[in-house]
Amino acid sequence: ETNKIYSSSPLKSFPTNGGKGPLSYANNCQYQKNGVVLTQALIYEEITKKLDTEFLLSHLNPFRISDMGCSAGPNTFIVVQNIIEAVKSKLNLNKDMIDFQVFFNDHSENDFNTLFKSLPVERNYFAAGIPGSFHRRLLPSSSLHLVNTSYALHWLSKIPEEIQDKNSPAWNKGKVHYSSSSKNVEAAYAAQFANDMESFLKARAEEIVHGGFLAVLLPCIPNEANPSKCTINALFEFMGSGLMDMVNMGSVDEAEVDSFNVPLYFPTQAEVETIIERNGCFKIEKMQQICRPMRGFTRQEVENFAMTVRAAMEEVPREHFGSEIAAEIFNRFSEKLVESCVFSDPTYVPMIDLFAFLKRI
Ligand code: SAH
Repeated sequence: ETNKIYSSSPLKSFPTNGGKGPLSYANNCQYQKNGVVLTQALIYEEITKKLDTEFLLSHLNPFRISDMGCSAGPNTFIVVQNIIEAVKSKLNLNKDMIDFQVFFNDHSENDFNTLFKSLPVERNYFAAGIPGSFHRRLLPSSSLHLVNTSYALHWLSKIPEEIQDKNSPAWNKGKVHYSSSSKNVEAAYAAQFANDMESFLKARAEEIVHGGFLAVLLPCIPNEANPSKCTINALFEFMGSGLMDMVNMGSVDEAEVDSFNVPLYFPTQAEVETIIERNGCFKIEKMQQICRPMRGFTRQEVENFAMTVRAAMEEVPREHFGSEIAAEIFNRFSEKLVESCVFSDPTYVPMIDLFAFLKRI
């Protein structure tokens, strides 16, 4: 059984900035936090409506939850607490009879020390860290009752090879992402995303008990939208154009930009639905797009937003260009974002997230 590989992924991983310093993810995850907070009521409602009491009573000890792609905190603690409150609300008997076990998953390079040190002191669950890629099996068969994943599934497991191949029509010369590249590049990204999400669902289908749930939150774009007109994709155009400025100034080699690509893909709801249907192991209980209002951002808010992008993905350019160039990339990115009109120009499609609540059938 090839899916059951116990070792960590040999592929590259890009942990969020660790620790609790000024550039850390823990201190720069407000954008993700707002999205997580916006969807807590939906998760709570889905759990209280759809979690079968008989199912719950037969799986009481312990009730096992996993947050996959949890980073170093603190948003994961909000998610987990909300799930536990929702499950508990289903039990009108003595609520203390239920034990909760929470598996915090991320790549092994993630700053688990910071995560563990910031676990809520008054938590009502047993905590464990699970290192490794969620594109593979991470836990025993039928061992989980509810899995959550927020802002993680848009990370690709790798950059499609053809994008880096000079002889391929999908070679992404002079660009770092797909929205202003040829359709071949976009198709290669889309295929990689579909592949990765399929692996994720296949592994979770084995780990989640029948009747259990999977909650998903990820950035997306509207069906039929042109990616080059979406704010979220425009971000990476700024990053790419900042890099090309550095090439023109002679501080970065052009070939290094040609071989650099950002491993993030923002699907449409229709794409995600197709992948879930093809997998066939989950029923969509709820799926909805969440609008993220960002119009009228002040300069400070735009700079803060640029910092959240930096904290989440600085490792990507750092691994390719080194720390100094990576820092300059983000300084230029922030400047370009402040000067731009992506948050105010109505011709840009605003940032949206996709929320899905699925049942393992
Ligand atoms: N869920 C948190 C963190 C989001 S940042 C929140 O909402 O704030 C995205 C996280 O996903 C990163 O920590 C990254 O390392 C993790 N991630 C990306 N791909 C992953 C994979 N294949 N396996 C496990 N974790 C992954």
